[in-house]
Amino acid sequence: MNTHNLLRALTSENDKTPIIFELLNLKSDTDQIYALAKATRDRVFGNKILLRGIIEFSSFCRCRCSYCGIGAGRRKSGYRMTKEEILEQCADGKQAGYATFVLQSGEDPTYSVKDICDILSEIHNRFNVAVTLSIGEFAPQEYARFHASGCDRYLLRFETSNASLYAALHEGQTLESRLECIENIKKSGIQVGSGFLIGISPDLNDLAKDIALTTTLALDMIGCGPFIADNDTPLAGRSFPWDPEIALRTMAILRILNPLSHIPSTTAFDVLIPTGRDELLKSCANVYMPNITRQKYRADYQLYPGKPGIDEDCSVSMEKAIARIRRCGLEPSFVRGDSLLKTTFPNFMVDK
Ligand code: SAM
Repeated sequence: MNTHNLLRALTSENDKTPIIFELLNLKSDTDQIYALAKATRDRVFGNKILLRGIIEFSSFCRCRCSYCGIGAGRRKSGYRMTKEEILEQCADGKQAGYATFVLQSGEDPTYSVKDICDILSEIHNRFNVAVTLSIGEFAPQEYARFHASGCDRYLLRFETSNASLYAALHEGQTLESRLECIENIKKSGIQVGSGFLIGISPDLNDLAKDIALTTTLALDMIGCGPFIADNDTPLAGRSFPWDPEIALRTMAILRILNPLSHIPSTTAFDVLIPTGRDELLKSCANVYMPNITRQKYRADYQLYPGKPGIDEDCSVSMEKAIARIRRCGLEPSFVRGDSLLKTTFPNFMVDK
């Protein structure tokens, strides 16, 4: 099948995995994939890119995921912000214009569920913003408590759809329980984001299945990034398994299959490809998440080497983000940007 027919089949066939695989395997004629992704994005989101400020509030993690630079015991130094520091950063972010904050950390039990709930309620009461949590796995009733305290959204990647690879990468954890968590977040009434680490499996069949699973999950937000090997992990020295363009193509296919999902242009793309985040902005992403963590902490939250922006303060990161978005012919937007999944839009078909 040529690209045109593959794209037609992608939007019409029920079993999408073999078609996704063929699209990933194309050696030429891929422009149409990006053109359709862009048309889909533009049709739903226009030229607006939602800005969400991310605060990385603790670099400590009890997990030992084989790919992650902040896994337990891997960094010589680390930090934990106090509740007051987190609130101060939210106050600065609110002042700068953000209407959404993303609070991310390792899985750090030093913060009890009550601590997190207190922080959420305080942010909710003081700043009238949307809050996204990205702090790992919890029990169903704990997600419900987060929601009751003001957690609007939650990000939890499933990382890979290959269950045996998942078990090999995550000591003592299973893909099944990860997917259960994602289901529990959804049931609690929180808008849910998930996705995977592109290239963590070197098998293109797995990548096709990752894209298909993401689509089946019907996510409010889709967060993916390329795997970047960190020297202090068991995966040190492993390189991205394909031409880096495959990572961009992955996101374009996700956009075509998920027209209404919020899709951020994530930081790790800039490490794999110097203009990575620009390429995503030009084709399929509708969200950008400037780092608003205080500069003094940034070097200690390196999941992988080469993370951009660790020498910047919040205002520089924001100015750079806005300049970048405009350079790509788009406009930054500071609205909350809640889920569009319940919105009705016409079907997106490839032109005949
Ligand atoms: N603890 C939370 C969790 O597990 O969802 C949030 C923090 S965790 C560090 C955020 C994401 O970083 C993970 O979902 C993973 O996909 C990504 N990540 C970790 N190590 C990475 C690496 N070496 N390259 C690219 N992304 C990485």
